[in-house]
Amino acid sequence: MFRTVLVANRGEIARRIVRGCRTLGLATVAVYSEADRDAPHVKDADRAVLLGPAPARESYLDAERLLRAARESGADAVHPGYGFLSENWRFAAACAEARLTFIGPSPEAIRAMGDKPQARRRMGAAGVPIVPGSAEPVDDAEAAARIAAEIGYPVILKAAAGGGGIGMAKVADETALAAALATATRRAQSAFGNGQVYVERYLEAPRHVEVQVFGDSKGTIVHLHERECSIQRRHQKLVEESPAPNLDARTKRGLTEAALAGARAIGYVNAGTLEFLVDAQGGFYFLEMNTRLQVEHPVTEEVTGFDLVAAQLRVAAGEPLPFTQDRIEPRGAAIEVRVYAEDPKSFLPSPGAITRLTLPSGAGIRVESGVVEGSVVSVHYDPLLFKLIAHGSDRGQALERLTRALDACVVEGVKTTLPLLRTIAAHPEFRRGRVHTQMVEQGAFHG
Ligand code: ADP
Repeated sequence: MFRTVLVANRGEIARRIVRGCRTLGLATVAVYSEADRDAPHVKDADRAVLLGPAPARESYLDAERLLRAARESGADAVHPGYGFLSENWRFAAACAEARLTFIGPSPEAIRAMGDKPQARRRMGAAGVPIVPGSAEPVDDAEAAARIAAEIGYPVILKAAAGGGGIGMAKVADETALAAALATATRRAQSAFGNGQVYVERYLEAPRHVEVQVFGDSKGTIVHLHERECSIQRRHQKLVEESPAPNLDARTKRGLTEAALAGARAIGYVNAGTLEFLVDAQGGFYFLEMNTRLQVEHPVTEEVTGFDLVAAQLRVAAGEPLPFTQDRIEPRGAAIEVRVYAEDPKSFLPSPGAITRLTLPSGAGIRVESGVVEGSVVSVHYDPLLFKLIAHGSDRGQALERLTRALDACVVEGVKTTLPLLRTIAAHPEFRRGRVHTQMVEQGAFHG
């Protein structure tokens, strides 16, 4: 086993990883930018290394500086968290070259799943149903129009290198296609340095259900059941839960079997997630695979009782998976909400100082926070402040606990998603477990 883990991230996930390392007796090195000198994740770790200026490009996204920090601090492993360099296959390969254990899958797996058209082809070949659409990125408006005519409008244009819900565009009919493709190409180029775009059928009001998978280097692959992540804004998740409510047993079995088949087909090692859209008839379609720890991993931890970060560390050290499929038995229900520093109506970031912060606690309540009272929310990073996770013996109890915990939260100084999350938690359709991915944008939670 390696001894010292450099945590190449910030905020709540850096703190979560430090905690995971502690449970295994591993030393930790935090990294930070000039904007994060006083950040809680810096104080949590055994030692900390300054990377550089606030912009992520010059700090958390700078592979050279991270590798130097690892060398200088004597780290022998790197945990990338989520976001930043977590799905950058070149960084994973550079870690291996520098004799650092990258806590995640192989560079090849990251590379294959990071190119979304390629991921669709690989998963399709493994028998996983995929959203109807193009097998390759489209070269021009004519090619896009041909595919759109085949699969039928509306369609959605997506960046081949996409992520974070960025740069997707719904296209209603052929007259709007050429302009939308030009915009999508430009956006993809500026966000991901790769302007390739592909076409998918746009599904009306689907659910987003994903399956957590985990593989080890002995070739064992298990799933840790599903998460429902339909409540989204800007194609980004706000609320996640496990198990998925009102998911019939047949669909659930189909999803977990497809996820295992997909992960096996690429010899997947470590934690990963296969994301699917599920339609009203229970049909499901592979969207993409995330080759890293998810933001929403705590709901899976709460219902399965397993520590996914500790398992990531063990597997990366070459140990077998600490759980077998037959021991992964979900208990009760867990719901997570994401509290972002953003305007709950426009969803624009709300940077600034947190002048007051009260976080909830109590039976079945878990908080993963990247901030404390006095923290300053920077314009440079994702504005996630903290995640609130409620666990109960059933969904009703989890919801009651969530509602009380949301009421107990106080955040002053920045605007947050808390008012919206309270509305969602109280909404009859949500309480019934009747959700789909377009609810927020359709205004279901207004008022
Ligand atoms: P990203 O990698 O940017 O997160 P995803 O492919 O995972 O993009 O999609 C994110 C979200 O966008 C989905 O959860 C869903 O809400 C919406 N979405 C993506 N593809 C489609 C589609 N074909 N039809 C309808 N909604 C979609």
